[in-house]
Amino acid sequence: MSEEQATEHVTKIPLDDVQKTLYQAGEKIYPRKVSGLFARLKFLSGFILLGLFYFLPWVNLKGQQIVLFDLPARKFYIFGMTFWPQDAIYLAFLLILAGLSLFFFTTLAGRLWCGFACPQTVWTDVFLWMERVIEGDRPQRMKLDKAPWSARKIRLKITKHTTWIAFALFTGFTFVGFFTPIRELSLSLMNLTLGPWEIFWFLFYGFATYGNAGWMREQVCIYMCPYARFQSAMFDKNTLIVAYDKNRGEPRGSRKKTVDYKKEGLGECINCTLCVQVCPTGIDIRDGLQYQCVSCSACIDVCNEVMDKMSYPRGLISYTTENTLENKPAHIFRPRIWFYGAMLLAVFIGVAYSISQRNLVAIDILRDRNSLFREAHGLIENVYILKLMNMDDKAHHYKISASGIEGLAVKVETLSLKAESGEILDIPVSLSAPPSSLKQRSSKIEFILQSIDEPGLETTEEARFLGPVPRR
Ligand code: SF4
Ligand code: SF4
Repeated sequence: MSEEQATEHVTKIPLDDVQKTLYQAGEKIYPRKVSGLFARLKFLSGFILLGLFYFLPWVNLKGQQIVLFDLPARKFYIFGMTFWPQDAIYLAFLLILAGLSLFFFTTLAGRLWCGFACPQTVWTDVFLWMERVIEGDRPQRMKLDKAPWSARKIRLKITKHTTWIAFALFTGFTFVGFFTPIRELSLSLMNLTLGPWEIFWFLFYGFATYGNAGWMREQVCIYMCPYARFQSAMFDKNTLIVAYDKNRGEPRGSRKKTVDYKKEGLGECINCTLCVQVCPTGIDIRDGLQYQCVSCSACIDVCNEVMDKMSYPRGLISYTTENTLENKPAHIFRPRIWFYGAMLLAVFIGVAYSISQRNLVAIDILRDRNSLFREAHGLIENVYILKLMNMDDKAHHYKISASGIEGLAVKVETLSLKAESGEILDIPVSLSAPPSSLKQRSSKIEFILQSIDEPGLETTEEARFLGPVPRR
């Protein structure tokens, strides 16, 4: 087929239609203020998480910022402990713990993380709160956006965006404060002497916060977050989800409080649409479980208020399971939950124990490659380079000994064995042993490194001592 013929077979689609197919026009969502048990829990969770984020960098422990990721020095200070690149294994365990927690909580209670602890949710709530204080609740905000531009509208919009940007930049500043000591960073900011990377991350994180929490909000959860797409794989009919009880609610319809709705053939949903108005992702929970639902529980709180006003029992929307909704027995604590829970607990205890037993000094042993061994003064001598790593946050003096062969003598070819915090020393060491003590060509020995000023700080490392073939 020629190129011209091929072109004739292509159906021409107007550009407008292509755009309609690829993109759905986003409608702005104006979530209504909500109060109730879950709103209080959400506030508490946000308060603790944001409190930790903004407050922690300002806390010092033993003269050191309590959480500081000092990348140039390759040291991470976390709650009085110092971690080094050699401790990267703990990062792997941290990721395993995060993964297991996600499995455990998602299988147990759906998108708890999204609704109560995800940074996107927590920061969006703060931005929404600011918007509400400045522009008013849902009806006022909708009215303001529909109104033509006026001095009042411009003033409110400028106030809102200035407040958002100031808060977002403070967030960016705090973020950088986890990588550069925050007190030094404050001085640099005041003296306008921030480094280029500090400026970049300060602005990048600040404007990412402003964009994500101020503008994009639920779009991040619906279109950008991969968790929204795969979390349903962890759900089953016994997972706790936010759900509307169709059996109780339908047929929905408005009515007076005094009316006997059963006689009218109605269910308990009065079709007030408040559950839709409070929803941060703008969905109607009465349409069933949807991937856009972030389980924030706002619709539960507002519907319970409506039920109270109508003197109906609470729980038309509630945390429940699909089995319960289908009048089948629910098994919330099922084998999967016990399995994930046990794994989570085991890894957590293992990591906590391993960190508590972490050795703050380490040695690597390298053999002298020039000669396997040499004979001197009737003794067999082996030469090594010991790489001593002091991973404590203070300096220590060390001594080296060795064991494994009778009459083994250690000669350290350096004057001082003092290592500063974080210092790596290369120490030439020679070991000598009488030939009569060598039972084989290669004997197992052990180097013992011990701190003189803190005897509990010690480590041992195996090595081989080589000699001639023993005479029988
Ligand atoms: S808030 Fe409750 S009563 Fe009102 S529409 Fe939603 S489900 Fe129905
Ligand atoms: S449907 Fe309910 S729980 Fe889900 S996001 Fe909307 S308000 Fe939150």
